[in-house]
Amino acid sequence: MSNLLIYNSLTRTTQKFEPINPPYVGMYVCGPTVYGPAHLGHARPAVTFDLIFRYLRYLGYKVRYVRNITDVGHLEHDADEGDDKIAKKAKLENLEPMEVVQTYTEDYHKNMRLLNCLPPSIEPHASGHIIEQQQLIDKILANGYAYESNGSVYFDIKKYAEKYRYGKLSGRNVEDLLEKTRTLDGQDEKRNQCDFALWKKASPAHIMHWPSKWSEGFPGWHLECTAMSTKYLGEYFDIHGGGMDLQFPHHECEIAQSVGALGHDAVKYWVHNNMITINGKKMGKSLGNAMTLEQFFAGEHELLEQPYSPMTVRFFILQAHYRSTLDFSNEALQASEKGLEKLLSAVKALETLTPGKTSSFSVSEFKEKCFDAINDDFNTPVMISHLFEGVKHINLIKDGKESLNEADLNELKKLYNDLCFEILGLRAEEEKSDNSEIIGSLVDMIQQLRQQAKSEKNYALSDKLRDELNRAGVKIKDTKTGYEWSF
Ligand code: ZN
Repeated sequence: MSNLLIYNSLTRTTQKFEPINPPYVGMYVCGPTVYGPAHLGHARPAVTFDLIFRYLRYLGYKVRYVRNITDVGHLEHDADEGDDKIAKKAKLENLEPMEVVQTYTEDYHKNMRLLNCLPPSIEPHASGHIIEQQQLIDKILANGYAYESNGSVYFDIKKYAEKYRYGKLSGRNVEDLLEKTRTLDGQDEKRNQCDFALWKKASPAHIMHWPSKWSEGFPGWHLECTAMSTKYLGEYFDIHGGGMDLQFPHHECEIAQSVGALGHDAVKYWVHNNMITINGKKMGKSLGNAMTLEQFFAGEHELLEQPYSPMTVRFFILQAHYRSTLDFSNEALQASEKGLEKLLSAVKALETLTPGKTSSFSVSEFKEKCFDAINDDFNTPVMISHLFEGVKHINLIKDGKESLNEADLNELKKLYNDLCFEILGLRAEEEKSDNSEIIGSLVDMIQQLRQQAKSEKNYALSDKLRDELNRAGVKIKDTKTGYEWSF
């Protein structure tokens, strides 16, 4: 179906993409923990896997894209310790935890729409899959890779390591992990420090808990992804994605859980995007450079010289390969903003070009180069550089210095449309300020007609004009001094 090559983080090799059951492709991506506004760190995995989703669909695959919402079990500090992030926020703001979840899920969706990320096919919540998670624990317990201790259930790394390789994804050495004898309070119920929780007994202060045969408690963070991915995509599926920071412990634990429960790895290709830095520094709350997407789009952060539109951010992310680090700086973003403008105005100009008799360059070769790039593990920076090379040709044709025959010109138009909009997921920015100016003067004009009708006592016409405006989404309010209007 394609010549797509994909890098597998598990084998550390680039492999030919061959789905388990073509034309179907199952893709699971770790979604956000919804305890705060969507931030810049959310943008990169979202755009990366949106690109992959879009491209696989473009190639004709029927993709089932599952991205979860983590609304229980993700604890502060590390996977097993501290407060639940959502419960903590709920206590702080005196809200029901599900109110926190609802608020920030909405916020996440809104920002994803702005970034033009397509919604996933299924977006399951961890809290809606407690039974599936408990069933998974039963299987792991029955296979002897977990143990119950004081109402909690832990995965037994030492036992697992006798037969399987724990650490194969992250490259960690299990001997080192087992040797570490870091002791923390309340950790003694584990056999080994590196054992991780599948089920945790809730303390009396813990507000999110469910009944189980082990205790009134809640599932461990890693478990949700294994439970939901295999529920919706089956015991074998094609792609599991997420940020590189999730490789350990989250994804390593997912592998152990699925091997522990099913006897095999569920995932064929593990795909990880690299991280974002800001002015060369890691992004983090403690570093004072964490910013929400809303702040970013509005330019409201001390590190930002100006607002950056969602499309600039999307284009900027795509101008780097997803496995490279990406440094956000004003300079780089401004360059992307200009580049995007140049690209989109060339696409607009392309639509108006007329064919010549002969072709001065080969569109088929050009097309091949573009697809070779994206087929090479989604190499968008190289593909975009080809697109810019094509912009030179478009401008030369516009100036009458080059030409394309009709078939080639149509081919080039389709190519730019497919690559820019369908695959890269760009969209022409709405020229809002211009539009509202035009609408403003139209409203003024209609309002003058209304005044004239009123002065001629033609109230039927005056009301009709107001109603028509209403129907078009413009609300008119007559005031003492004149009128006000709004959308
Ligand atoms: Zn996950």
